[in-house]
Amino acid sequence: MSHTNELQLIENQGWDERILVCRNGRLVDTFIVVSGRFVVLVDTVINPQTAAQMLDYARPYLTNGRQLLVINTHADYDHCWGNQLFAGDSAVYPAPIIGSHLSPPKFQQEEAQAYLAKMQELEPEVFSEVRFTPPTMLIQDKFVIDGGDLTLELLPTPGHTDDHYSVFLPEIETLLAADAAELPYPMARTPDGLPQMRASLAKLAALPAETVLYCHAPVTAGRQLLLDNIAYFNAIEAQCRAALAQGINPQPSEDADVIALVNCPWETAVPDTEQWHNIHDYYKTAGHASQIRAVLHWLVQEA
Ligand SMILES: [Zn+2]
Repeated sequence: MSHTNELQLIENQGWDERILVCRNGRLVDTFIVVSGRFVVLVDTVINPQTAAQMLDYARPYLTNGRQLLVINTHADYDHCWGNQLFAGDSAVYPAPIIGSHLSPPKFQQEEAQAYLAKMQELEPEVFSEVRFTPPTMLIQDKFVIDGGDLTLELLPTPGHTDDHYSVFLPEIETLLAADAAELPYPMARTPDGLPQMRASLAKLAALPAETVLYCHAPVTAGRQLLLDNIAYFNAIEAQCRAALAQGINPQPSEDADVIALVNCPWETAVPDTEQWHNIHDYYKTAGHASQIRAVLHWLVQEA
């Protein structure tokens, strides 16, 4: 997909006024939380240009002694490649970047370096200025920021990636789920991530959240999306268990049609509404098949 350097501020559609939603094209939403003590950027988008626009949206609130804080929900490119604005030689507004202790090593990985090089070659106008800048304040377990009027509870929600965090704000019953849930579904980066991801979904669904915002879903998705994601994986699991009980090959070959094999067409695993019909075909076919393979893999490991 091609990227854009634009970052739009999304009109408030009913959530607390202290949360600002920023949107980078069709790729990702990021958030600004304005509390009494801190202005908190939740993620830094894809590059210094988009992070600078986020900072511009935040600047009017950096008054009355409020300090800037940055959170990385995880180390995927669409969440942290604007970090260099806040730490290191190129920082224009130095601030702590809070992230999982598991994130910094990911910037060192050869695949990550190669991925950046590839992106810079494909879209130099977007990625040429990106310099890897890992988070500077590393957390493990739950971490709480007391913003005065608002509390930000950073909750480990591994699965999509092992370094993933979501942010819950109890005073306003608002959850920033990041990539722990998505429309149509979150994807675990590794096979072992699947059960963790489902546990994280359950953990988030149990929170008393009235407003739920995601990085990859419409702002209108609401907490129902958490439940729909849970139901989706439950539906796949039920079909896989039934098929395994009937004696299917638990390790189907690469070219096997696993959707037919476990009899779990897309439509049977998601709600029958417009929103779910209008999903890109990839997610109904190849993407859906890889989720089924992940569930089969997990069930076989379990056994
Ligand atoms: Zn993402």
